[in-house]
Amino acid sequence: MEGGRKAGRPEGGPETGRLLCCRLSATHFGQSRRRVAAAHAARFRPVAGPLLLGQTPYMNILVAGPHPDDQELAMGGTIALLARRGHRVTLLDITDGEPTPHGSPEIRAAEAAAAAAALGVARQAAGLRNREVLYSLAGRHQLAAIYRQLRPDILFLPYPQDAHPDHGQVTRIAEDARFDAKLTRSTIPGEPFYPPRLIYYFCTHLRMNFPASFCVDVSATMEVKMQALRCYDSQFFRGRPAAEQGAVLDYVRNLDAYFGGTIRRPFAEPFYVTEMLGLSGLEEIVL
Ligand SMILES: [Zn+2]
Repeated sequence: MEGGRKAGRPEGGPETGRLLCCRLSATHFGQSRRRVAAAHAARFRPVAGPLLLGQTPYMNILVAGPHPDDQELAMGGTIALLARRGHRVTLLDITDGEPTPHGSPEIRAAEAAAAAAALGVARQAAGLRNREVLYSLAGRHQLAAIYRQLRPDILFLPYPQDAHPDHGQVTRIAEDARFDAKLTRSTIPGEPFYPPRLIYYFCTHLRMNFPASFCVDVSATMEVKMQALRCYDSQFFRGRPAAEQGAVLDYVRNLDAYFGGTIRRPFAEPFYVTEMLGLSGLEEIVL
């Protein structure tokens, strides 16, 4: 009897399936149990470890932010985690974020580049004007052309509800650009493409309870996130009273510790989806 199943035992149950799998792997292919165990451990490597290309589907991931630093504040740990696993991550700055009290376009661009380097990801600018972002067809098509160029499998955008006018406008433009990007017979440069997955992150200045759909365990990359945030000297340190220097980083760390507590991990970042998120397995569910 194949796999040693007893007569009358239902097929396909979790126990029979596991036994069958182990026995076929260990004996049918002539491998030792130790080799099977090693292969299993490599296949289901914890998220903190380096993952070789080919062990998971390779993805293009685009994280759009209204201003340089929004992406890192909200999901820098996840960005670093994805990059560490071999996915191609691009941070898209919709505006340059300036003027600010202690920054300049040049300073902010240098800080943003340093932060992207710390996270191990690419960065590019969309070129819309800070403080003047308004919903428009031209803006939608501009972002749609970028989607067609980068062809992201996953698109991250700010949560739609936001007090900052730039943030709200960017989300609306970027959502509709997703639809525009797939249209044929349009004047948008590039080949039609529809980013299949849209996930929202929560900007950290929101004074609200985040209605998170899920959290990503970023315990392994929390310090990389902090390193990236420290690159923004003009935003979080320079010109501030000593007591306020780095206060934003402390707030972010506390916030991520709170969400980490919700999944019994040191740190986590929250996300929100409106479209059903499908799983092809349960191996990476945090138990
Ligand atoms: Zn912002």
